Amino acid sequence: MKIGIIGAGLGGLFSAAILSKKHDVTIYEKLPYIGGRFTNLDYKGYQLTTGALHMIPHGANGFFGQLVQESNCGAKIINSNPDGLFRINNTNYGFEELKKLVSFKDKLKALKMLADLKLGTVDKDISFGTFLEGISIAEKVGNSFSGWALSLSSYETPMDEVMAISKYYHKFGGPGIPLGGCKGIIDALEQVILQNGGIIHKNYIVDKVYIPENYQEKCTINDENEFDIIISNASPIITQKISNLNFINKNKMPIPSKGIKVSIGSRNKLITHNGVVFTTEAERLNGFNQPSNVDKSLAKEGHNLIMAHATQIKNNINDEIDLVLEDIDNLFSEEFTGHKKEDYKILAIQTYRDECPVNHASNGTDLKPVVNDKLYLVGDGVKGKGGIEVEGVSLSVIEVLNHINKL
Ligand SMILES: Cc1cc2nc3c(=O)[nH]c(=O)nc-3n(C[C@H](O)[C@H](O)[C@H](O)COP(=O)(O)OP(=O)(O)OC[C@H]3O[C@@H](n4cnc5c(N)ncnc54)[C@H](O)[C@@H]3O)c2cc1C
Repeated sequence: MKIGIIGAGLGGLFSAAILSKKHDVTIYEKLPYIGGRFTNLDYKGYQLTTGALHMIPHGANGFFGQLVQESNCGAKIINSNPDGLFRINNTNYGFEELKKLVSFKDKLKALKMLADLKLGTVDKDISFGTFLEGISIAEKVGNSFSGWALSLSSYETPMDEVMAISKYYHKFGGPGIPLGGCKGIIDALEQVILQNGGIIHKNYIVDKVYIPENYQEKCTINDENEFDIIISNASPIITQKISNLNFINKNKMPIPSKGIKVSIGSRNKLITHNGVVFTTEAERLNGFNQPSNVDKSLAKEGHNLIMAHATQIKNNINDEIDLVLEDIDNLFSEEFTGHKKEDYKILAIQTYRDECPVNHASNGTDLKPVVNDKLYLVGDGVKGKGGIEVEGVSLSVIEVLNHINKL
């Protein structure tokens, strides 16, 4: 089959790397670089990113890891250990240790909550925030987790999603960091696509997609390129805008999630492990990691790269950034770290909303990846249920590949 792919983000590149084994694949990417919100930005010796925090939610073992294997791209993901620690009163606690901090009565309540979550006997229609109500530590821990992983407050996070996430966490485990950071994955996928004879056009904006009703007729991109099927890695809203089809129900529009990322360079290790520190008591910040603990090349020589993430809650972006910077000042103050403020430096503050959000569809508002037998969507506007970020992107690719294989 001749397959046209719009966009060279993770969704487009994973699809192309696997489909190019058997099919003729051509990718059209509007930017001068590939990788979308999942690649590195070289800045003063540090590998910052266009989006992601150099982290794969279920490490080498999740859906993303499965696609890395299936594409034979050879990229390597190092699983984090510990997965994450929770910062409470300036001390880091593992998940199990949190029990020490609650009263006997709350401990019983929390154990029941966890058991219900594992057994799936929770009201799926409530929010995660509502589920956690009544145990103050659980509320803070849950909010920092949903903020870090989904860029949603706990009250914006559907319980249905949390239950699916919990199932996958028990199955696959926690996060990991790819060698070379995000770009380590992108470079590896690009190599496979080119080796398989796939074509990647950069600086090519797709502004017209035609999907015929008649199966014999060809699909076209910008009136000049004919394909049997088209996969779009552009957001569902953009795809609908440029295509001749109307496939989004007006009452079920995807709602994007917004966020703020701060990249920090530090002479000292502000984290000693390769997992996440969830900042449960911060005003806005949800957590931070130090990916250079896995791959030193992500930071300037003799330095460390720390990435901090916050969900954007209110509309005034400048106020939101101020809150995040205050959180960073407090968390990394000399009093708590023993290191002087001059020893770390804010490298970049990046905001993600509008055309470039954290997710084109926040979890629970995703559309379905298969529009019909000729048009498919991949990416974070069509994540499968319980798919955290690039795991959700991978779920969309898996669903599309399964459908195409049956054609
Ligand atoms: C601050 C932040 C932190 C994050 N942290 C993490 C993390 O640590 N771990 C994680 O798993 N996920 C993380 N994510 C989410 C993750 O980065 C995204 O979910 C993922 O990169 C999205 O991939 P995608 O393929 O859906 O889309 P994109 O990366 O957006 O790719 C789509 C591509 O399509 C191209 N395109 C669009 N329209 C057209 C057109 N008309 N013609 C041609 N090309 C077009 C775009 O230029 C782009 O290259 C984070 C995101 C942000 C913003």
